[in-house]
Amino acid sequence: MEQLVSLCKRRGFIFQGSEIYGGLAGTFDYGPLGVALKNNIKNLWWKQFVENRTDMYGFDAAILMNQKVWQASGHVGGFSDPLVECSNCKSRFREDQIDTSKCPSCGKEGTFGQARQFNMMFKTNVGAVENEDSVSYLRPETAQGMFVNFKNILDTFHPKLPFGMAQIGKAFRNEIAPRDFIFRVREFEQMEIEYFVDPRNEKTVNEIFDALFEEQMSFLKKIGLDSNKIHKIEVPAEDRAHYSKRSVDTEYDFPFGQKELLGLAYRTDYDLSAHMSSSGVDLTYFDEENKDRFVPHCIEPTFGLDRLILAVLSDAYKVDGEGEDARVFLAIPPAISPIKICVSPLVKNKDGLVLKARELFNDLKKSFGAVVWDDNGNIGKRYRRQDEIGTPFCVVVDFDTLGENPELLDTVTIRHRDTGEQERVAIKDLKKYIEDKIN
Ligand code: ATP
Repeated sequence: MEQLVSLCKRRGFIFQGSEIYGGLAGTFDYGPLGVALKNNIKNLWWKQFVENRTDMYGFDAAILMNQKVWQASGHVGGFSDPLVECSNCKSRFREDQIDTSKCPSCGKEGTFGQARQFNMMFKTNVGAVENEDSVSYLRPETAQGMFVNFKNILDTFHPKLPFGMAQIGKAFRNEIAPRDFIFRVREFEQMEIEYFVDPRNEKTVNEIFDALFEEQMSFLKKIGLDSNKIHKIEVPAEDRAHYSKRSVDTEYDFPFGQKELLGLAYRTDYDLSAHMSSSGVDLTYFDEENKDRFVPHCIEPTFGLDRLILAVLSDAYKVDGEGEDARVFLAIPPAISPIKICVSPLVKNKDGLVLKARELFNDLKKSFGAVVWDDNGNIGKRYRRQDEIGTPFCVVVDFDTLGENPELLDTVTIRHRDTGEQERVAIKDLKKYIEDKIN
């Protein structure tokens, strides 16, 4: 973990939030490579779950919502974790995350009393007047933004059940003990789906639940996660949220242990019914075939984007060889790697070479976007630099490209990150060659 965190900082993936002021616990800032990786994962997700389907409606709801949303959803009353405080050093912990017989911070025994419930929502006021009516919260999940827009989707798109709403966006939780880099933070991003079904056919509901789980697994495969590190956990009734009829958590072997990566929950009609009775607005669905109305049930696949990024990075982090010669590389699948191609002239002081390489760079940049230029130091060092940030392809223009060996005229060397192998490819075939590898 330490090596990964250090690489993320050194190479511009992820920085501590507010770093120059000593940081702000539980916040991180994504640098150029981090945001590129993040966007690639988001785009892949959106493509799979929204664009490639005909039953999914994309959404982007406001982060701030009327406080009544959170009262109705149960978050104001119940979105809390058990907090304990050490009477000796005053450190605070989540009761279920520590052995309370001994303080993990000062080591003293028997310093914890009764736990109290700590609400994790960030409270704020909307508008110039601060009173109870102006209270709002930064959303702790994206889900509610979709439930309160259910009727808007019915009225504007007239979808037939089953159908889903999908959203990618920030969520905020005032975690008692943020930890493990970007695993448990106070500001993070979720990618969530609320999938609405007709509850009267239990068999179909179960099939949809299982199909959504398979879709989650297929996404994890696309982003290159090692299937041996992925664990399906059927959450027993006593551990499930009170509204959930069935929950399957997907856990992953992070460097610090097996922990939750994704969730899938059958939330029944809990949310729509709660908002219907609280708002007084009819959130039923009219079934044209049977000419009756009912409140649809909801199955929710949820993905934590930051946890996915941590899983991708920790899975991808590889070391080849030992000691000074050790080569660190990030084996990120080309489809989501932040930089796709690095273009170099073999040496930087030969005008002909540089001109040819620049021409190629400009051309590839137009097609692939995420292409960088590197003519610093010797070629071996350049490869090492690109390996460390997970660039799958390094393209080198050399004297043979210019025709020193006539048989190799207008060909370049392409060097592969994971194997270190090099191939000779004609410039005219290069784009297609790389496109095939990325797709
Ligand atoms: P945990 O038990 O780890 O606190 P949770 O069960 O409360 O998580 P959910 O409410 O199901 O999490 O949230 C959905 C997803 O959002 C989680 O699977 C996770 O990927 C992500 N997530 C939740 N809390 C955080 C956090 N503090 N930091 C980063 N990601 C989070």
